Amino acid sequence: MSAKISGFRRFLHWGPITALSIIKCITLTTLYMNSMWWPPNESFAAFAHQALFLLLSTLATYNYIMATLTGPGLLPKQWQPKESKDIELLQYCKECEGYKAPRSHHCRKCNRCVKKMDHHCPWINHCVGWANHAYFSYFLFFSIIGSLHGSVVLSCSFYRGIYRYYYLTHSLAHLASVQFTVNSIIMCILGMGLAIGVVIGLSMLLYIQLKTIITNQTGIEIWIVEKALYRRYRSATNEPFIYPYDLGWRLNLRQVFNEECQKRGDGIEWPVVDGCDQYTLTREQLAQKDEKRARTRVYKCISNVTGRWLPIFSQGWRVCVSAPCTDEPRIRLQPDDIIRVTRFRRHWLFGERVPSEREQKHRLRKGAMRGWFPRRSAVPLTEVPDSESSDDVKNSKSSTNNGHSHGKQQRNGHSKKYM
Ligand SMILES: [Zn+2]
Ligand SMILES: [Zn+2]
Repeated sequence: MSAKISGFRRFLHWGPITALSIIKCITLTTLYMNSMWWPPNESFAAFAHQALFLLLSTLATYNYIMATLTGPGLLPKQWQPKESKDIELLQYCKECEGYKAPRSHHCRKCNRCVKKMDHHCPWINHCVGWANHAYFSYFLFFSIIGSLHGSVVLSCSFYRGIYRYYYLTHSLAHLASVQFTVNSIIMCILGMGLAIGVVIGLSMLLYIQLKTIITNQTGIEIWIVEKALYRRYRSATNEPFIYPYDLGWRLNLRQVFNEECQKRGDGIEWPVVDGCDQYTLTREQLAQKDEKRARTRVYKCISNVTGRWLPIFSQGWRVCVSAPCTDEPRIRLQPDDIIRVTRFRRHWLFGERVPSEREQKHRLRKGAMRGWFPRRSAVPLTEVPDSESSDDVKNSKSSTNNGHSHGKQQRNGHSKKYM
């Protein structure tokens, strides 16, 4: 399990290997082309120019490594709040056998609860959260500036290189400094492509990260708040929902960025606005879970489901045309499987397969437990019996669902006309 991965073993994964290779490829290509375009031994300005590029590249690499090594801050296993009465206000995590501290969420990839989890980033092979939010943002920032610098150097040297013959034949020999070989022209084009790609891709990421930090609302919390507002809108209640962690942009920024680039607090207790307490958000999360449980219907599978994204052969075009436009998993089912469905579309249902006892012991089947499947492959059984619901309180509290991926569909979701 990746939770046990520590130190430099985190880097032995396609994400970090690719990311570090891209950084090194851009850096080395830029240095090579720059040595012909504006050699650092030519003047002090040329030296400073190359030093600046090296500094940006080093800072990007340093923050990248620190973001990976520091990690997001994992909540200790079997965590409990100080006051035992507070466990009523928290969700339980079956995997970590403990309660989820406010703002913590269980990451399936890390297989641990993560403090102030924002998202799991495959490029650093770790989550982004409380402890490495600053390193991650600095990494994005320096990579963007460094790659921008690199792409300017590469484009200029590329231009000089391909006009070399023109310069030489028009008495402009002093401009003909860049000489290409087959290898170096390929390297230069590849480096340019990567640098421009990094600038575009990471700029979008940095924008999202800064928004998260300035509003003090992680990707997951954005969904929780959206659901909270929608819940109030639907029940036509006047009671407003106050998001507890938005202290104003200055204080929000200071929570992540400070002089030492160090994490603040313990990642468990958070400063909140007036009128809220430590459990304002967790109370809302529990209420959302309760509503979800009330909405849950039990279905039984009646025909094989392949788990394909577009099951054209087994289900026909109608099902494929109305496939849900999300990257959420599709589940594989066999006849007689029981599924707890929480979202309903005309041709698709979203739910969690209930494993049989035998399966729970031996983990016989692979693939996702939660996801979408074609509606025509299952029939509704009765509603969830009350007795089962009460037995299930602990289980449902332990639902390790990230929550965030569901909000939007729920709007389409609960419609009686399909029931
Ligand atoms: Zn957990
Ligand atoms: Zn993770």
